Amino acid sequence: MLYGALEAGGTKMVCAIGDEHGHIAERAVFPTRTPSVTIPQMIDFYKSYEIEAIGIACFGPIDLIPGSATYGYITSTPKLEWRNTDIVGPFADALGVPVGFDTDVNGSLLGEVTWGCARGLQDVVYITIGTGVGGGVMSGGRLVHGMLHPELGHMLIPRKAGDDHPGICPYHGDCLEGLVSGPSIERRYGIKAAELAERPEVWELEAYYISEALVNLILTLSPQKIILGGGVMHQEQLFALIRTDVTRMLGDYIQAGPLNDMESFIVPPSLNDDQGIMGAVKLAMEAHI
Ligand code: ADP
Ligand code: ZN
Repeated sequence: MLYGALEAGGTKMVCAIGDEHGHIAERAVFPTRTPSVTIPQMIDFYKSYEIEAIGIACFGPIDLIPGSATYGYITSTPKLEWRNTDIVGPFADALGVPVGFDTDVNGSLLGEVTWGCARGLQDVVYITIGTGVGGGVMSGGRLVHGMLHPELGHMLIPRKAGDDHPGICPYHGDCLEGLVSGPSIERRYGIKAAELAERPEVWELEAYYISEALVNLILTLSPQKIILGGGVMHQEQLFALIRTDVTRMLGDYIQAGPLNDMESFIVPPSLNDDQGIMGAVKLAMEAHI
């Protein structure tokens, strides 16, 4: 059985055809221009295949509320050309198949839960730290949406004593994204994050703030595993620093098995950057049932 999968990002659209095992058979990448240019290009790609359904894992914010007049829309995105754009409707109309729809980060989380390092788990958090910070949450086996969808990249965290960098979030200044995103690192040090690899103090501070956020998530959601992806997490030294900081910040308060094995509890993604597109295949499979 073939499924369409779309990982919709602000800079590129990854379109793929996959099967029920998450195997990706075909793939095409289109730059994200305007909806009127890019959506028809993608539809043309899918039209060449006999797909049963399509799954869309999309940058946001998006409307996921069933029955809402704007269900399936990208809503208040800073990417102006895509603001208030129906992304589900055009695919449903042109392809005549069911459409699964969720956030990009929930897509990556679903890929890891279905075929990757979180297989079999019910309570998992996936965070991407890149140009922005986004997070997906699975709780009791269900992807969390709530009133909208989690926006945990914008959580507020205590500042480290002596650090007065204002942060770069246009809404909150020094929220998590404002402090730890790639562009925030670049603003703080005046050099691209990837070029700061040999500066330990950069990654110690980065790990400190990421760890504060993880502690808040551990205390509120009680996850069995936390997956950290995105460009900034290519600095692999962050993982050891974060595991140490999280352990210290939790202060022995919580006694639970996963916390005794930090190397398995806080991990990188496991699907070679295909977690998002594979998750979109799973969204299609779920829409098809
Ligand atoms: P996006 O978030 O735009 O989808 P990425 O997850 O690749 O894309 O994140 C891009 C951000 O990650 C940029 O701000 C970049 O500076 C940062 N980044 C990319 N590679 C590295 C690296 N090796 N080390 C540190 N930061 C990196
Ligand atoms: Zn913010």
